[in-house]
Amino acid sequence: MATIFSKIIKGEIPGDIVYRDDQITAFRDIDPQAPTHILIVPNKEIPTVNDVNPEDEATLGHMFSVAKRIAEKEGIAQTGYRLLVNCGRDANQEVLHLHMHLFGGRQLGPMIMRK
Ligand code: AMP
Repeated sequence: MATIFSKIIKGEIPGDIVYRDDQITAFRDIDPQAPTHILIVPNKEIPTVNDVNPEDEATLGHMFSVAKRIAEKEGIAQTGYRLLVNCGRDANQEVLHLHMHLFGGRQLGPMIMRK
């Protein structure tokens, strides 16, 4: 079954797409946690980081250069931003289609919740 992100990538359900190419699609998170909250998603369905293969390395590297370009476009490159990838249960990964969150536009606080 296609993931909800694959459906957005294929245009089957709506998404606020800010960037797309043959490897990656980026769209605004439906429940933003910061003024800028964009998801950068490989077009290929890789469920989690645990499923990454060497053949995916070019796409995963490309995600960083796309993240940089989106941050510049959003006007947050100089103030700073956070890139985050959740993997599995303890990270609360909700959508099993690997994605990078790009957060910015406000002071983002500590890296993770302290116990
Ligand atoms: P994660 O917990 O890392 O799997 O993050 C999944 C993210 O996907 C959450 O921040 C959700 O708000 C977001 N999300 C879920 N459904 C959609 C959707 N249809 N369009 C955009 N973002 C979504």
